[in-house]
Amino acid sequence: MDTVFHKISSLTPDPLVIAEAGTILKRGGLVAFPTETVYGLGASAYQEEALRNIYQAKGRPSDNPLILHIAELDTFYELAKTLPESAKIITAAFWPGPLTVIVPRSERVLDVVTGGLDTVAVRFPSSLIAQQVIRAAQVPIAAPSANRSGRPSPTSAAAVKEDLDGKIDMILDGGDCTIGVESTVVDCTTTVPTILRPGGITYEMLTAVLKRVDIDPGLNGDSLAIPKSPGMKYRHYAPVAPVLLFEGAVDKQRQAIEKQAMAYSGQGKKVGLLVCDEWQYSLPPVAVLATFGSLTRPQDIASRIFRVLRSFDHKTVDIILAQGIDEQGIGRAVMNRLRKAAGHQVIKV
Ligand code: AMP
Ligand code: MG
Repeated sequence: MDTVFHKISSLTPDPLVIAEAGTILKRGGLVAFPTETVYGLGASAYQEEALRNIYQAKGRPSDNPLILHIAELDTFYELAKTLPESAKIITAAFWPGPLTVIVPRSERVLDVVTGGLDTVAVRFPSSLIAQQVIRAAQVPIAAPSANRSGRPSPTSAAAVKEDLDGKIDMILDGGDCTIGVESTVVDCTTTVPTILRPGGITYEMLTAVLKRVDIDPGLNGDSLAIPKSPGMKYRHYAPVAPVLLFEGAVDKQRQAIEKQAMAYSGQGKKVGLLVCDEWQYSLPPVAVLATFGSLTRPQDIASRIFRVLRSFDHKTVDIILAQGIDEQGIGRAVMNRLRKAAGHQVIKV
C-alpha cells in the first residue's frame, strides 16, 4: 500500500489533515501520529480487523495488549468497568500526560485489545495533534509505539517511515517527541498501585500523590519474577548491533568502557560508544561515538535515547558499549529501556 505522508504543525495542526486522519481511522485504517512520548500507530479501538492490522504491521506478538488513547474523560468511564481510587488520584494529577492506567475493563473493550485480560490500559495524551486525531476519529484509539516490534520506539516521523512505510495508511510528521520514552504504566487494580513500566511520570511524582507505589519486581530482569505487563517480557528497543550496558560509578564505567573498546577494536570489531556529552572530546578514537546528552539533564537523555540507539544502524557497528545513568526520576525509564536494548547483557563495575 502507499503510505500518505503529511507534515503537520504541533501547535496549530491543519484541520484538513486532522480530518483526513479521522476519516482513515473511522474506515478501519492505520495512522501513525506523534504524541508527547513517542509516535503511536493508531487504529479504532472498536474495529477488530483494524486492531489485527496493528499487530500485523508491527509484527507484534498477539499476547501483548494495546493501550487505548482518549481525548476526553467521558471515554474513560466508557472503557473502565469501575474506577479504583488510585486511578482517580493519579489521572487527576497527571492527565493529560505520559501516564497509562490499568483498570478493570468494561464490556465495550474488545478481546483483541487486551489479549484476553480482564483489565484495560488507558491513556489521555497531552499532545495537541494526538488529541485532535482522537477527537476526529470519534472513538478511543488503540496506539502502540509505531515501530516494528522489538526495535527502538520512534521519536520522529523518519523513524516511523524506516519501520512501517508501505504497511500503514498515513504518517503524520509533527516533529520530534518531547518526552522521548513511552508512558509510565501503573496497575491500579492491585491494593498497592504498581508501576509496570517506568516512563515520563516518575516514581517520585507518583509517590507525591499516592501513599504507596510498588515497582513490579520483574521489570528490570534482575530477579526471577516474570513481568506483570505482558509486553515487558520481550527483548525490545534494540538496534541491529548487540548492546553491552555498563552500570556503576561514572569513573569506573569510563575505565571499563575504554578498556573494552580497545579490546574489541584490537579484534578488528567496529565499536559504537553510547555515552554522555561530558565524555565526547576525551575518548580514545577507536570507536564510532554517539552521545545521549549531559548527565546533568536526564530529561534530555530520555528524549534522545531511542534516536541515538537507532543512529547506530546507519553506522553499521559490530557492537555498542553503552554507559548507564543514575536510576532516579526519568533515569529509571532510561535505564529500563537500555537494559532491554542490551537484552540484559549488563556489566556492573
Ligand atoms: P506499547 O503499546 O508499545 O506502548 O506497549 C504497551 C504496554 O502496555 C505493554 O508493555 C503492554 O504489555 C502494557 N499493557 C497494555 N495493556 C495492559 C494490561 N491490561 N495489563 C498490563 N499491561 C498492559
Ligand atoms: Mg512499543
